[in-house]
Amino acid sequence: MEPIFIMNQDQAAILDTVKRFVKEEVTPRAAKLDADPDPAKCYSFEIVEKANEVGIRTMTLSEKYGGLGTDSLTTSMVIEELAKGDLGVSVIFAQTLKIAQIMEKALNEEQRARVLPEFAADPQGMLGIGITEPDNASNYFLPHPTPFRTTAEKTKGGWIVNGMKHFISNGNRASFYLLFVQTEKGKPLAEGSTCFLLERGRPGFTIGRVHDKMGERLANNAELIFQDCFIPDENVVGVPGKGFGVLAEFFPQSNGYAAASIIGVAGALYEKAVGWAKLRVQGGKPIIEHDGIRAQLAEMRMLMDASRSYIHRACWLADHQEHGWDKTLGTLPKAMASQAAWKIATWTLEIHGGHGYMKEFGVEKLVRDAAAFLHSDGVNRTLFLKAANFIFND
Ligand SMILES: Cc1cc2nc3c(=O)[nH]c(=O)nc-3n(C[C@H](O)[C@H](O)[C@H](O)COP(=O)(O)OP(=O)(O)OC[C@H]3O[C@@H](n4cnc5c(N)ncnc54)[C@H](O)[C@@H]3O)c2cc1C
Repeated sequence: MEPIFIMNQDQAAILDTVKRFVKEEVTPRAAKLDADPDPAKCYSFEIVEKANEVGIRTMTLSEKYGGLGTDSLTTSMVIEELAKGDLGVSVIFAQTLKIAQIMEKALNEEQRARVLPEFAADPQGMLGIGITEPDNASNYFLPHPTPFRTTAEKTKGGWIVNGMKHFISNGNRASFYLLFVQTEKGKPLAEGSTCFLLERGRPGFTIGRVHDKMGERLANNAELIFQDCFIPDENVVGVPGKGFGVLAEFFPQSNGYAAASIIGVAGALYEKAVGWAKLRVQGGKPIIEHDGIRAQLAEMRMLMDASRSYIHRACWLADHQEHGWDKTLGTLPKAMASQAAWKIATWTLEIHGGHGYMKEFGVEKLVRDAAAFLHSDGVNRTLFLKAANFIFND
């Protein structure tokens, strides 16, 4: 077993491919797509298809299903690299790679055979997960005794689902979803909900609004609407009423992947800050030669490197839990990385002076993107509280 702080040859080869993909397919398109006022049009099928051609879209699937079987550590490196090109692109793949990995473990044999070959064969295939709804968001991070508003009533051969989810990444783009719905009335959402496999196009399931976001615009987020939508018993994932068991058992790397996305944005900001500090001359020398700026750049580097180490440790231990996984690794790396990224964003803006505020320099897009993960995958405050509950209540 190789130490996690040394990149192995397979990882280096995969990252070379991803870097080339970002340089050739993402960077030339990102600013123009980001600037489109229609959120749905910020999404690029072309980028998805190009990523498919080089194996990025399906890389977490095992070879049996046409993937590379990348582990969580390697996947986090890929997600970070994608985010250096564009956060939205990183997020659409982070979600898809994560959910593919989960589906291969959590679905039963018959469900896997129905879903995974079809997903793998579709060059535009994306995956989504629907938990958040307007009235229940942090309530599932810090389990509160309210039920989900989206409910499923038992009927012959399946369930009738009514309600809605919102903010769902890839919501309007996915071909398959994992959907969390209240199936037991009067119970809290953490105790009486069920995870369902949901296919695009199922009658009674429609896509609502595509959210118009401040940043991360190359990813689409949308509402999922259910009006008497029949989902058959064969689509129950795990055990009815035990949806949260699926979350707890199969999502350990989720937080690390979110952290990898946002630390990629920090990397892009840092590169810009260093570049500008070398170029810009004030006070008779390049500003990188002024102590305040130099020290700030070193601190930015420290925040990034420390966050990345935390992410790598969390992702490696998610796959090797017997070596010391603890539940705080599923909550804190994203909080740390998103705080680091936000600090690095505001400092990069400061180092650029007024130029950073001018759109043409590209810092402005990165600042908007850097705000994305203070809340996504759980608001940081709720993640700190969740970690505190693991540390002090167990
Ligand atoms: C870009 C993006 C992508 C997303 N993708 C998905 C997705 O794919 N699937 C999905 O299901 N969801 C997704 N979400 C939803 C995301 O997980 C929620 O936005 C997040 O959980 C926060 O919910 P909220 O925005 O409703 O905030 P709220 O829950 O309303 O929280 C508001 C504030 O109250 C605080 N707060 C809430 N409860 C407590 C408490 N008990 N104690 C102390 N403070 C508290 C919070 O920390 C926060 O500061 C996404 C969100 C975004 C922004």
